[in-house]
Amino acid sequence: MVNEEWQHLRATSLQLHQREIDNMVEHFRDPPFVKGLDASSQDLELTRNPQFRRWLTQNTVAHKQAGYRAVYLSLKAPKQAPGDITAEQLDAVADLAERYSFGEARTTHKQNLLLPHVLEANLFDLWKATRKFALDTPNIGTVTDVICCPGLDFCSLANASAIPIALEINQRFAHLESLYDIGDVQIKISGCMNACGHHHVGHIGVLGVDKKGEEWYQLTLGGSADEDARLGQRIGPAFARKDITDAIQRIIETYVELRREGESFLQALDRLGLEPFKQGAYSLLRKSS
Ligand code: SF4
Repeated sequence: MVNEEWQHLRATSLQLHQREIDNMVEHFRDPPFVKGLDASSQDLELTRNPQFRRWLTQNTVAHKQAGYRAVYLSLKAPKQAPGDITAEQLDAVADLAERYSFGEARTTHKQNLLLPHVLEANLFDLWKATRKFALDTPNIGTVTDVICCPGLDFCSLANASAIPIALEINQRFAHLESLYDIGDVQIKISGCMNACGHHHVGHIGVLGVDKKGEEWYQLTLGGSADEDARLGQRIGPAFARKDITDAIQRIIETYVELRREGESFLQALDRLGLEPFKQGAYSLLRKSS
């Protein structure tokens, strides 16, 4: 049945009628932007505040409309389960969206929130407001911006915990400067093969498995959910619960040690192959055995 449908579809070209396009456009109307702003209207004086500057660099991105930026509200504070938000924080987000982003807030597949249209002139005030509610952690796109499923804590299908691993990673890489030095290494954790934590497409993927009633974790390296989408490769036998965070740390240390100037984690992995990363990860087992 599926094959028949595919054979039928593959021979036809995609036909979109103007009324369908018009209908879609209707759902994506621009809000009433202030026009004619300078693209660099952000008050440079304010960026002299190092904490604000760090947040500005890490948690905001360019907007198609000059004078605006899109702002991530990180849901990866150090002791917070990835993606969790309290009722008080959610109320605050609703208020911030009203005040600063035309009443619009979005969820992201990386388990954060986004205020899509913020006037650059309002960024400093917004940043101060997010700090009151612990929504300002400047870790978007870093090792601690982990995608993580509920795992054993909340899911009846789980084989292993996922949230505690994410929290351990968050504590292990708490130092912001080293976090920025490591750069864009995406860790994704699933508590079972259903893969709700997208582990197959993590630069470092973590899959919880059950072995005789104990929690173990398989690691995959090299997955990507970006334009170069691909699945990660398993590096070898699973790690025990007590060893998995150390193994992840060794893999990241191997990358930092062997990377060339400006080389991303995936580029280094493609150049070096799995072997040095495997050696790094399993070396701790050899030491403890
Ligand atoms: S990956 Fe498995 S454990 Fe995690 S939420 Fe999905 S079904 Fe549950």
